[in-house]
Amino acid sequence: MTKIAMMRCEKNENRCPLTGDFTSLAKTVQGFEKYNECDLTGVFTCRCPGDNAVGLAKILKSKGAEAIHFVTCAFSTKTDDGWDATDGGFCDHLDEIAEKVHQATGLPCVLGTAHLPKGYTPKVLD
Ligand code: SF4
Repeated sequence: MTKIAMMRCEKNENRCPLTGDFTSLAKTVQGFEKYNECDLTGVFTCRCPGDNAVGLAKILKSKGAEAIHFVTCAFSTKTDDGWDATDGGFCDHLDEIAEKVHQATGLPCVLGTAHLPKGYTPKVLD
């Protein structure tokens, strides 16, 4: 059982209740495919410009999180043909935020949760 935390993006917090993310985690599919079983430790919201992410990630670690996943919409966009990672997402510097979180916590940071873009393999900072 791997304890997973999620970091969502404030730009989508009033439209998306993370339904697909929670379902994918429970079924260990999409961004959670590599785990045999997952347990959700918690969810926090990143707020622009992302300076709160490290502090929130430290709290998630203190609650037992073993990995932090950043939501797919932060780095990819929904199109008529599905989600597209080449078109960017809500965040233009998510890699930098994830790297800071990884360095500060030592936890694996994964870019991806639900509805992964076609051909996309989740980026893992480990
Ligand atoms: S810094 Fe990036 S991930 Fe964080 S809230 Fe802003 S756009 Fe979203």
